[in-house]
Amino acid sequence: MGTIVYYTTGILVLSVFVFIWLERKYPYTKGMPIFRDGFWVDLIWYTFIQSYFLKIFIFDYIIAPLDRTYHLSSLHLVGSWPVALQVLFFLVIHDFYIYWFHRAQHHSKWLWKTHEAHHSNKEVDWLAGTRSHSLEILINQTVEFAPIILLGADPIVVPIKALIDAVWGMYIHSNIDVKSGKLQYFINGPEMHQWHHANDRAVFYANYSTKFAIWDWLFGTAYLPGRKKPTEYGLYYDYPKDYFLQHLFALKKVDERQLSDKYGWFRAYHTSRQRFMTWMLRKSKNN
Ligand SMILES: [Zn+2]
Ligand SMILES: [Zn+2]
Repeated sequence: MGTIVYYTTGILVLSVFVFIWLERKYPYTKGMPIFRDGFWVDLIWYTFIQSYFLKIFIFDYIIAPLDRTYHLSSLHLVGSWPVALQVLFFLVIHDFYIYWFHRAQHHSKWLWKTHEAHHSNKEVDWLAGTRSHSLEILINQTVEFAPIILLGADPIVVPIKALIDAVWGMYIHSNIDVKSGKLQYFINGPEMHQWHHANDRAVFYANYSTKFAIWDWLFGTAYLPGRKKPTEYGLYYDYPKDYFLQHLFALKKVDERQLSDKYGWFRAYHTSRQRFMTWMLRKSKNN
């Protein structure tokens, strides 16, 4: 199992470099910087810290107790299938589920609160998709990984599935001008998912697919207007830039500027990152 972790990490890091290179070479939206607004929040908070803690919570505190109670995994219901078939099976059923849950999130006022963070980036690139409210990840990854464990799949299926999620997630959000032609009817990519993130009424209820675009075409929610591109991305209302406020926003609409004006402690916290960077810069210049 240790080896597979090295392999998946290696492939992941390599993919990051490939996507960044392709974004420079064939940009969908020209002129987008690598370190766009929100880049560090997405990388540090969502990609590293949040996913680390949620992984422990989902696997050790939800799925493991479920399995200890029902002993389902010991039946190895799918464990005898070839690994490739197991991966394909879980890819397709989870992708079908996520299409409908995603669609519900756009239609329900309450579920939207778990999803608006994902739509809040004003510039969409390979990293933008990692921005998801922890409640959204908690629901979706529990639904994704619990069946894999409980149906007794080969242990290698979890890291393979997680790797496919990560790379495919980077791909559909990437700022790459992909022209996949007829393939876009089956395999989802930036052509349709960049549109899903547009601040445009035409796509508020369209392009819900994640991996397989076929769901959108089958269920009448596909939007692909030729070579036309979105003019604006993100939400049509103000949204906080701070990770914790983004989480709080789901419960209570907060305005960062108002909070800064009102509370000294919040101002101190909110400007601390900037002050730390200035301090670091000064230190490095002195040395
Ligand atoms: Zn969405
Ligand atoms: Zn997305």
